Amino acid sequence: MSFCECGTLLSMATKTGELKFQCPQCRNEYNSTPDDALIYRTGNSYSDINPNVIKLAPHIKSMPKVEKKCPKCPNTIVTFTRTKTGRLLYICGCGNYWS
Ligand SMILES: [Zn+2]
Ligand SMILES: [Zn+2]
Repeated sequence: MSFCECGTLLSMATKTGELKFQCPQCRNEYNSTPDDALIYRTGNSYSDINPNVIKLAPHIKSMPKVEKKCPKCPNTIVTFTRTKTGRLLYICGCGNYWS
């Protein structure tokens, strides 16, 4: 997550099916990396993960996918990412996530 050239905090946009950051002031768009998709503070709690990201991650094409059964729905393909602490986090399109 970063700031626009104009100093405004960028907000996430997924219009095109890919995660981008857009400045609400001057409408500049910035590409994201998969690492941008998860936002951390210190500690390991799930509350460190932005709930918007959990919602958006399964729809971001650049995020890696893996064949894995979601414990909460019939879906068997979930998005996964590795957190900065090395923990693997699985994110399902139903909004469920686990590691
Ligand atoms: Zn701007
Ligand atoms: Zn699910």
